[in-house]
Order: sequence, then C-alpha cells, then structure tokens
Amino acid sequence: PYEVLVIGGGPAGASAAIYTARKGIRTGVVAERFGGQVMDTVGIENFISVPYTEGPKLVAHLEQHVKEYDVDVITEQQVTGVKKAELIEVTLASGATLKSRSVILATGARWREMNVPGEQEYRGKGVAYCPHCDGPLFKGKKVAVIGGGNSGIEAAIDLAGIVQQVTVLEFSDTLRADAVLVRKAESMPNITIIKQAMTTEVLGEDGKVVGLKYKDRQKDETHVVDVAGIFVQIGLVPNSEFLRDTLELTERGEIVIDSHGSTSMPGVFAAGDVTNTPYKQIIIAMGSGATAGLGAFDYLIRN
Ligand code: FAD
Repeated sequence: PYEVLVIGGGPAGASAAIYTARKGIRTGVVAERFGGQVMDTVGIENFISVPYTEGPKLVAHLEQHVKEYDVDVITEQQVTGVKKAELIEVTLASGATLKSRSVILATGARWREMNVPGEQEYRGKGVAYCPHCDGPLFKGKKVAVIGGGNSGIEAAIDLAGIVQQVTVLEFSDTLRADAVLVRKAESMPNITIIKQAMTTEVLGEDGKVVGLKYKDRQKDETHVVDVAGIFVQIGLVPNSEFLRDTLELTERGEIVIDSHGSTSMPGVFAAGDVTNTPYKQIIIAMGSGATAGLGAFDYLIRN
C-alpha cells in the first residue's frame, strides 16, 4: 500500500505529491490526465516569479519536478470511489483497487454546461468550452460567448482577434469580470455585449451550429443571433461526483476542508479547485496541495 495516494495530477496534486515525497513517504499519483486544466491553458501571466508561460510548458515542468522524486505516477485511470476500511481503498474504473494509509483528493473542476436544447447535440459541432483550443476553428466567422465573468470576457477578447464578430451574452445586468478586462472588451470594435440575456436554445442545421436563441429578461422578448460557434463560459463544476455520500461536500459539490486540508473523512485530505477554497487559480491550487501534503504527513506520524 501507499502511505499517501494523491488523486489528480493537476497543479494541486503535483504539489501535494512533491511535498509528501520530500518527507520520504511512499507516494502515488493516480490521474486521468496529468496537468489537468493547465493543459487547456495558453498564456499564463499570474504564476508568480514566472512573468509568462504556457499551459503545456508549465505541465512539462510540473512533471519533471514530480519525477525528481520517487513518486508512482499512474495516468489514464479514473477513480470511481474512495472507501475507509482498515486502509483507505480507492477504486478505479478499470476495476482495480489501490490501498493507502492516507489520500489527497485533487480532482479539480470542469466547465459548467448551459443545459439547453441543442447543447449536447452540437457539442464539438459549434458548441465549445475552450476558446484556446477551438477558437481558431471559427476564424473569420461570428461566435457567441455565454457568460460575462472573467473567463467569458477573456474568451471574448481572445476570440475577437481571430473571428469576425463576438457577441457576449450575460444573464445578469452586470458583468462580473475585472474592470480592466471589461474596458478592454468594450474598446474592441468587434465585441458586442448583451446583458440580461438568458440563452434558451442552440440552433443547428446540417449537423452544425447556425445560431442561438436568447430571452431578453427585461423585455421578455426572444431573439436569435446567427453564429457558427458558441463558447460556454459559465463557471466550473467540481469533479467530486464519485465522492457523493462519502464525505462532506458543499451544496455546489465542493469538498469541505479545514485549514490543514482535512476533509470529513479521517486520513483523507483535499486541495485545489475541487475544494471549497475561494479563487480557483494555479498558484492557489499549488499552495493548497502543499498544505494537504503536510496535513497528510502530520496525520501519518500521529496514527
Ligand atoms: P485540475 O487542474 O482540474 O486537475 C485535476 C486533476 O484531477 C487532473 O489530473 C484530472 O485528470 C484529475 N481527475 C479528475 N477527476 C478524476 C477522477 N475521477 N479520477 C482520476 N483523476 C481525476 N489559473 C491561473 O492561475 N492562471 C491562469 O492564467 C489560468 N488560466 C486558465 C485557463 C483555462 C482555460 C482554464 C480551464 C483554467 C485556468 N486557470 C488559470 C485555472 C487553473 O487551471 C486551475 O485553478 C488549476 O488547474 C486547478 O488545479 P487542480 O490541480 O485543483 O485541478
């Protein structure tokens, strides 16, 4: 068995594994995809002490750093359950079970979906979630961005440099994005921002997106916008479904942790975007990974 088994190989998981491995305790990492969300990120300008880097490059450095230590990294494996027995048992979709004295959950988060007709049908046929990945597919075309938070406005600015026209649809009457981003977006001639707009349907023809329907919440009118692409930027959902009924989660599904990274299950710690820590950022995920690693070490020397 492991002494610490880290579930997730994003910044939080990598950081936790380095901290525990440096204590000389037997550490394993099991993840679907090493690097997590960082693999989907292009420019990173807020990783302190590194003025600019790119997702895949940062992930390569993370991997290299983890490999400096004796850590078992198992990728392309999905964890489906965590159970407290004599040791903590972690079940995989493959049917295998891994055992460990302690566990650190660092499974991160994923894009939230709109849940409107057409979204699933046209996913990958115009409905997209990652502007950095799919933006270039819409070169010279019209697209919509759903959501006026930081990710939505960032996406709009990013896309405006590639596509013909960007329409941002925000549900509420204000944009939640940072003022500097909003100013930038407003200064770009090919970005239109519509507030109080509730997206109600994705419209498609011949297997691809041709537009969307939205309701003007103030006037109670329905409008159609002709677009070839729809970028959904309405937040993140924690990857914690497999933990339901296992340990304490918030209403939104985030794992509740204390200041040591402990969860409600003894010996199980958590870190990063999957937890109820505010502000989902790389540097914060790494910090909380370090906390969870040290928390797990503390637990092990006391039990
Ligand atoms: P994640 O990075 O989500 O990693 C989760 C890990 O868990 C992955 O390895 C995944 O494969 C694994 N996993 C999930 N479920 C399971 C399961 N059931 N079984 C096994 N493994 C599982 N932050 C910044 O600081 N600066 C930025 O510029 C920035 N830009 C971003 C741009 C984009 C497009 C996105 C999506 C995010 C961006 N972020 C940025 C946020 C940052 O990427 C996240 O806060 C950070 O990656 C969270 O790290 P994490 O380790 O908690 O989770």
